[in-house]
Amino acid sequence: MSSARAASAPAAVPLGRSVDGRAIEAGEVGDPAGTPILVVGCIHGNETAGVAVVRRLETLSPRGIDLWLVPVLNPDGVAAGTRGNAHSVDLNRNFPYRWRRLGGVYDSGPQPLSEPEARIAYRLIRRIHPLVSIWFHQHRDLVWASGGNRAVERRFAAVSRLAYHPLPALAGSAIDWQNHELPGTTAFAAELPAGAASPAAVDRYMRAVLAAARMALASR
Ligand SMILES: [Zn+2]
Repeated sequence: MSSARAASAPAAVPLGRSVDGRAIEAGEVGDPAGTPILVVGCIHGNETAGVAVVRRLETLSPRGIDLWLVPVLNPDGVAAGTRGNAHSVDLNRNFPYRWRRLGGVYDSGPQPLSEPEARIAYRLIRRIHPLVSIWFHQHRDLVWASGGNRAVERRFAAVSRLAYHPLPALAGSAIDWQNHELPGTTAFAAELPAGAASPAAVDRYMRAVLAAARMALASR
């Protein structure tokens, strides 16, 4: 850890607004000239355990890593306690890779990137080109690995103590879009167990993020 930055929340970088006008923000910690790594705490509004992990990461200043942190990509869903956004769209089916029209709980939206929240993440990822993107979900208690560098995903699984699961790509998901769009990078989903994470678990997931980032840096 460098000590150049006080252990407090970073300045918020505004990314845009949700359907209902809520601000969506990122924090950036570590080394701005380092390798970009992205962590999204919550994309499904009823899966919020990862937010505490992002808040923990905000207190760090990892050397050599430009750590981008989006605590909540779906603030309307969090406010309503719903998986989808205020249009009831599943944002993780709204990305432009292998997108197809889906309804019900996995509502894809009328077209790829129809939703402002998905466009915000899409633009951020294209802009910062993260070597690793980690998306927190719940509550399957596993690492959902469907592309990218398997060693990075296995490292995250080992440190987090989540099971490692190679699983198929999903239509319109954020991770599969990145793995296709940005070859050489790794995006995966960390499905935490149900409920809030204990302080010990938050610490473990925080360390897993850094370990995965280090593994990606070492294996480039
Ligand atoms: Zn989810």
